[in-house]
Amino acid sequence: MADAKVTRLRPVRPCPICGKPSVQAFHPFCSSRCADIDLNRWLTGAYAIPEERDEERKTPDDGDDE
Ligand SMILES: [Zn+2]
Repeated sequence: MADAKVTRLRPVRPCPICGKPSVQAFHPFCSSRCADIDLNRWLTGAYAIPEERDEERKTPDDGDDE
């Protein structure tokens, strides 16, 4: 209980590109370069959006799933 003086440190989110700690100037990236890389990925469509995958036909019983 002596550690009641714990300061809540904000977890620094790592740069999604290279994994380095991000800086505020280029949040959430660590540098303009990484931000640029990220932008490029978007433009080139390298980014997949798994959560937005709205497949109309769901096959709950595919039988191919082990
Ligand atoms: Zn980076």
